[in-house]
Amino acid sequence: MARQCPDCKIDLRTEEILGIDLDICPTCAGIFFDDGEMVKLKDQGDDAFADVDEQVQPEDPFEPTGERISRMCPACREVMDEYKYLYTTQIKLDSCPKCFGTWVEHGELEAMQKALADAESQPLNESLMRTLRHQLVIAEEEVAHERRLYRQRRMTQVLRILTLRRSGPPFGWWV
Ligand SMILES: [Zn+2]
Ligand SMILES: [Zn+2]
Repeated sequence: MARQCPDCKIDLRTEEILGIDLDICPTCAGIFFDDGEMVKLKDQGDDAFADVDEQVQPEDPFEPTGERISRMCPACREVMDEYKYLYTTQIKLDSCPKCFGTWVEHGELEAMQKALADAESQPLNESLMRTLRHQLVIAEEEVAHERRLYRQRRMTQVLRILTLRRSGPPFGWWV
């Protein structure tokens, strides 16, 4: 079965760009990346994402539907999961839980490239450092608390064994 655009419901065409066979919608210029293809594309250079976005253009004039329905994977027809690129950006991609392919709307690749460059150049700022230190303190406190609980449990066990032993169960029954 031919792969179809999850939005326009028409067959995707395959086109080789930067050495990668991409599945592209001729109407909306959305692209389906098979598992691993996006990493391959990124390895083609810092501008590879934006290059593809520029080379692949939607039909003119193109009117996006605007509404966001849950998308079906073009490859295996599973409902895809929406997630945010790099988990903190506002770029919403769709990923297939079965084949791990990703659907990218036109324009998103360029935005992804920018977000990636921003993330890579960002120094760890003061407020982030403070948050991390704070979380570290909480984590250490939790570990200490766990240890206290563990020690308490062991003490209780030892005390119980000693009590039982004194009150006379057969010697060695608890080992
Ligand atoms: Zn489309
Ligand atoms: Zn799939």
